[in-house]
Amino acid sequence: MMKLYYDLHLHSCLSPCGDNDMTPYNLVNMAKIFGYDVIALTDHNTCKNCGSAIKVGEQTGITVVPGMELCTSEEIHCVCLFPSLKSAEAFSDHIYGTLPPIKNKEKIFGEQLIMDSEDGILGKEEILLTTASSVSIDALPSLVDEYGGVCYPAHIDRNSYSIISSLGDFSPDLKVSCFELTPQADERHYLEKYTATKGKLIIRSSDAHYLENMREPEFYLELRENSAEALIDYLKGEV
Ligand SMILES: [Zn+2]
Ligand SMILES: [Zn+2]
Repeated sequence: MMKLYYDLHLHSCLSPCGDNDMTPYNLVNMAKIFGYDVIALTDHNTCKNCGSAIKVGEQTGITVVPGMELCTSEEIHCVCLFPSLKSAEAFSDHIYGTLPPIKNKEKIFGEQLIMDSEDGILGKEEILLTTASSVSIDALPSLVDEYGGVCYPAHIDRNSYSIISSLGDFSPDLKVSCFELTPQADERHYLEKYTATKGKLIIRSSDAHYLENMREPEFYLELRENSAEALIDYLKGEV
């Protein structure tokens, strides 16, 4: 088994709230400098910068897992991760059709830049990416599974856009094998207060939107190999 330091929740300049310096090139190289083994790019409701980030990862020598932070119809953020770019992009195309057709207002929300792997701008996403998709939290795990991926509730300790802030607790029918806490959260509090967390794997990631919010590696997983496939299998509980 390999001990791998991870950060599985990072936003690029494609997220309107992500800094324009958070390009695929910059964020992957920053992760490499910090000494991460595996990271995931999880922009709001899109995977359109994942291909470039994976390319930088291949050049830099760090595994980049394609992902998305999906906003469910209940306004719950969920991290969705995929074993391949192809599956992530197919999922991304599907989710695009579930978003309301609201245009981004750059002056209010920020730019949504689609970048290549060398800091070149390929284009801009027109539809606002921080809205809620029409996919519900209970429908999401099986939908993500159809694309070979895994999903789990993001930052459940936050007061907004979290499963606990939106629903008060995990829904009884929610089929997930893990959940995310912010690096600062008191793990014991959540394990004691919410019984649904029992037996689930805890993932702790930065949710960085700025290069300066990326942090020293602290959390690790032990995987059979350093690959997106091995990570997805592990998170699904299929080690
Ligand atoms: Zn979030
Ligand atoms: Zn996020």
